[in-house]
Amino acid sequence: MNPSLIPRSARYRLAQELSQSVQKVGHLLAHALLPQDCVLCGLPSGETPVCAACTCDFPRLAALQCTRCALPLATNALGASMTCPDCAHHTPAFDAATAVWSYGFPIDTLIRDFKYGHHLYLGGFFGQHLAQILQQQWHENPDLSPPDLILPMPLHPHRLKTRGFNQAAEITRHVAKYLGLAWRSDALRRLQDTAPQAGLRREERWANLRGAFACPESLNGAHVLLIDDVLTTGASLSACAEVLRHAGSRRIDVAVLARTPEPGHA
Ligand SMILES: [Zn+2]
Ligand SMILES: [Zn+2]
Repeated sequence: MNPSLIPRSARYRLAQELSQSVQKVGHLLAHALLPQDCVLCGLPSGETPVCAACTCDFPRLAALQCTRCALPLATNALGASMTCPDCAHHTPAFDAATAVWSYGFPIDTLIRDFKYGHHLYLGGFFGQHLAQILQQQWHENPDLSPPDLILPMPLHPHRLKTRGFNQAAEITRHVAKYLGLAWRSDALRRLQDTAPQAGLRREERWANLRGAFACPESLNGAHVLLIDDVLTTGASLSACAEVLRHAGSRRIDVAVLARTPEPGHA
């Protein structure tokens, strides 16, 4: 097509978009190939965007957690149930959850930069840490095993168009690569662009999520690992797990970068 046939405003927009894309690619390449400075403290961090010292300071989850939703449990719960009161009353549809960190500074900021600031170079760092903690669990607990398939929490197509990428799929891609496991971005779909769940009452959350997800194919007894960035109320992950169970999945585990220390607190 002759470029002069494209209206001037459209050409300008195209040029702007192209320049932004080139910048993003340059940013990604620089972070992938060159020795880096830690994005938090500015000291040399080798091939990773966050240095080992800063990573060690990330907020950790208490060792004692709800076996179902990874919520830190009070120490006086020892010897009692290993399930939090919330899960005891309303068991989520997923079998178990794993989180790398507790949701707090600076991991909350890094996740926001990753999601809304397009700091995609953090995907590899996040994926590697999530993969390592999963591997460690499978190694330490003979009852646990790697999944047959990893799926990211889906984004609604409208939101995917606005954001340009699905942050959960980015993390999943790196986790799957690190562990040598299969992943799919299209098996689980989001049909409704639901409002954020935090701050809603339980009944409102469920009403909000009814019919929000679909899995149009049979999962034939597959053990699935569902990945998201943050676990807050767990309602969306549970709604996904319900759909996956309905599609024939025999076990559904959940893995996230960070768990909010209290249910619903974001
Ligand atoms: Zn640092
Ligand atoms: Zn729980």
